Amino acid sequence: MYLCRGIRTSVRTFHHSNPIRQPPPLKAEIVSVGTELLLGEIVDTNASTLSQKLAELGIDVHYRHTVGDNHTRLTEVIATALGRADIVILTGGLGPTEDDLTREAIAAATGQPLVRVPESEQRLREFFAARNRPLADSNLKQADAPVGAVHLENVCGTAPGIFMRWQGRLIFAAPGPPTEMREMAQRSILPILRQELGETDQLFTRSLQLMDIGESQVADLLGDIISAQTDPTLALYAAPANVRIRMATKAPNEAAAEVKFAPVEARIRELLGNHVFGLDSQTMAEVVEQLLRERGRTLAVAESCTGGLLASRITDISGASEVFLAGVVAYANEAKTSLLGVPAEIIAQHGAVSEECARAMAEGVRRVAGADYGLATTGIAGPTGGTDEKPVGLVYMALADERGTVVQKQFWPGTREQFKQRVSQMVLGMLRKRILGVE
Ligand code: AMP
Ligand code: MG
Repeated sequence: MYLCRGIRTSVRTFHHSNPIRQPPPLKAEIVSVGTELLLGEIVDTNASTLSQKLAELGIDVHYRHTVGDNHTRLTEVIATALGRADIVILTGGLGPTEDDLTREAIAAATGQPLVRVPESEQRLREFFAARNRPLADSNLKQADAPVGAVHLENVCGTAPGIFMRWQGRLIFAAPGPPTEMREMAQRSILPILRQELGETDQLFTRSLQLMDIGESQVADLLGDIISAQTDPTLALYAAPANVRIRMATKAPNEAAAEVKFAPVEARIRELLGNHVFGLDSQTMAEVVEQLLRERGRTLAVAESCTGGLLASRITDISGASEVFLAGVVAYANEAKTSLLGVPAEIIAQHGAVSEECARAMAEGVRRVAGADYGLATTGIAGPTGGTDEKPVGLVYMALADERGTVVQKQFWPGTREQFKQRVSQMVLGMLRKRILGVE
């Protein structure tokens, strides 16, 4: 209770030192246009891209619409959005064909007729001439814009975008192809919005990545803080083998956001201790690679059930060669014996999925590669191959170093993919704790 208050007090103090009144955030709606989106043939990545960018600017997206290439429905959606939002951003439907209706629908929803923009017509003619392509009449309609709108340059394609101020609203339309949309957002739409916003706040986030702790345990430990904490807000996200706490705040710049994050982060770390293994998009492999590099230590891995995923995750990191010596995928029993020196008797007596085999694999790969640390995985990923004694989801993970060998047994039934992800994450987590001395 007391500590909880402590955090809030420090955040309040910060507010007192900044008594500027912020205007309410602008409201935006995004309209994704295209029948192929409704049919599920393509995924609407443009809306996510735009949502992220708007959130970073501190603009609240209240609705996202998906609408087919239909004049009536598209006009209706634009009119609805204009009835509520300060900013309406459309993507798609700016092409030259008959089903590209975004220009026409904006014109209809605002009551501003389409007119040809001479500079845009000129640019289109030059674009086609430069490529020795004939310019069809249909292409020319891309040079049209509603009265009062301006065109936004498209450096990757032929369709110009649209920017229009209408009755206090801002309307943008960008082409559908994601590279063209992103480029136009970056080059034109976001700068216009930034200018419109003046110096108001942007959204900053920080995630704390957790290991060896479940969502419900985190909720038990932090529940009070999560619900009481309003700035930054706290949210708990959980995926298999990946639980994280996300802090979010609106602030004028990174330094101001840091002032808000620091005390809350310190309090969370105090409560969760070594369960916090990384920040933001940092992976467990990155954390481990860095720990090894800082200490000049090396690693080799022996994999059965993870089938190379562990080595792959480590080698995803540029510069991993400084710390990673070798990875052996020893899938068959004979390979465990011939490549890693696992005694055949161990496998005969205990089976390949056993504490003894995991131990021998980790020690074997450490010896063979001449590494400081050896890691090993052996388990039953499923869905087939389980028995009563050794069910699908059973795994042994081993870590060998100069101090000896530790083995962890776990039971993680799930899909094959989830199992491999989880095992490779957890065995790296074992190494992290071993290096930090926090077992
Ligand atoms: P359009 O501008 O409507 O002619 O769209 C051209 C192409 O861009 C489509 O066929 C899709 O491949 C792609 N596209 C359109 N809208 C989106 C969207 N919202 N997200 C991702 N891709 C899109
Ligand atoms: Mg389309």
